[in-house]
Amino acid sequence: MTAIDKLIENTIRADVRAIASYHVPDASGYIKLDAMENPYELPDTLRAELGQRLADAALNRYPVPSYTTLKRRICAGLGVPSGYDVLLGNGSDELIAIMATAIARQDRKAVVMAPTPAFVMFARSAQFAGADFVGVPLNSNDFSLDLPAMLGAIARHQPALLFLAYPNNPTGNLFDEQAMEAIIKAMGETGIVVVDEAYQPFAKKSFMDRLPAFPNLVVMRTLSKLGLAGIRLGYLSGDPKLLEQFEKVRPPYNVNVLTQVAAEFALDHLDVLDGQAELLNQERTRLAAELAALPGVEVFPSAANFISLRVPDADKTCAELSTGKVLIKNLSKMDKMLANCIRVTVSTPEENTAFLNALKASL
Ligand code: PMP
Repeated sequence: MTAIDKLIENTIRADVRAIASYHVPDASGYIKLDAMENPYELPDTLRAELGQRLADAALNRYPVPSYTTLKRRICAGLGVPSGYDVLLGNGSDELIAIMATAIARQDRKAVVMAPTPAFVMFARSAQFAGADFVGVPLNSNDFSLDLPAMLGAIARHQPALLFLAYPNNPTGNLFDEQAMEAIIKAMGETGIVVVDEAYQPFAKKSFMDRLPAFPNLVVMRTLSKLGLAGIRLGYLSGDPKLLEQFEKVRPPYNVNVLTQVAAEFALDHLDVLDGQAELLNQERTRLAAELAALPGVEVFPSAANFISLRVPDADKTCAELSTGKVLIKNLSKMDKMLANCIRVTVSTPEENTAFLNALKASL
């Protein structure tokens, strides 16, 4: 054992040593359909205008710590009900970590819960924060919520934090609203429910207007899928008193000056980004129909900017697509109910057609 191996064994937590890093494959030269990014860039005129605004940003100063202007713009422009506030994060990934760090139980280890398969950072952030993660399997036939199982698990584990991604990643479907409300009610005063609306720009459905009805509800969104994955900005809407508690855990200056300027610029031009989302939704409809016509392929309904599907041999398909320089996500090893499933981001008509052709060749 080398000195550095000994140092790692003596200092780094065993559960951290045991896991692999969050893997992001090198995509240079690939058609990149693995990460739900918007393939469209801003029009040239807007890029020039943004460049000017970024040039004017005070990079010698720390960001204004309260982010008052950006928060006000988000609340007004993105449908946060009056009387509710937002907490900003370096992507919603950071908001998940902040919430997982802030929760606790007096009597025993805190539990974070989500229906599974779910976005991987729910479980990871729970683990890093020292909480237990309990996943409750979705119904395997249609990835809907198993409400009796969820209610049973809530009663048994009393989670302090429960995530419902609406629509869900990696399955793409919207859960039943009544079932979600029953879960929020069952959590009551003992647990916070995070409705994660990362894909809201495509689903156009939201729990934001239900904030006043449920004090234990918070709604989390991101600018990533809308076309600004590179700036890393997530926001969490909820009761200001609850957000104030999360605020204490937020690292100071977590949203940098360039992100702040770019986000405010994006809010000025939401119509452009919404137009791109609309194009992607049209392509989702086409892609789903073409996939459904392929023999041996099972396509799952999606309200997001990706489609999950089952193929005869996901490992073979992913390997062959990768050879053809098309990068998608193999879901097979994530959960047994996703055996032979793959996930593809909806992209431009040209890239979607390239994916379809590569898939056809591999089937
Ligand atoms: N929630 C869900 C459901 C997601 O799929 C993702 C990204 N894949 C995120 C949150 C994180 O988004 P970001 O950190 O880019 O805001």
